[in-house]
Parts: sequence; C-alpha cells; structure tokens
Amino acid sequence: MTTPDQPGDTQGEAPNGPYTDKTRPDWTRKCEVCGQTPIVPVTGLCGPCTFGEAETAGGNW
Ligand SMILES: [Zn+2]
Repeated sequence: MTTPDQPGDTQGEAPNGPYTDKTRPDWTRKCEVCGQTPIVPVTGLCGPCTFGEAETAGGNW
C-alpha cells in the first residue's frame, strides 16, 4: 500500500525566490568598479553599477 497524499510532481523548481544563478547576489566577490559587495554574477558589478539604481546597493535587487 502506498500513501496517496504525496503529489510528488512539484520537484525541479528552485524554491528560493526570483533569483537565478546569474542574478543571485554574490557576497564572495567585489564589484570591479567600486569594490562593493555583493555583486551581480552575470556582470561582475554591484547593484548600483549594474542597474544604475542606488537603492540596489547591498544586494537589494
Ligand atoms: Zn559597483
């Protein structure tokens, strides 16, 4: 007998937020322009240098 209350068809999707591997804040590296952390992995630059928005500083994107 198997338990019928396990849908089991929701696997494969990233469970943690809208970030992808390209946009998830990377705290292990510094911005190539201003030296701040974190950076956007796809650009190698921090939020403000990547997006031009000061409010994205500190990984707030
Ligand atoms: Zn920067």
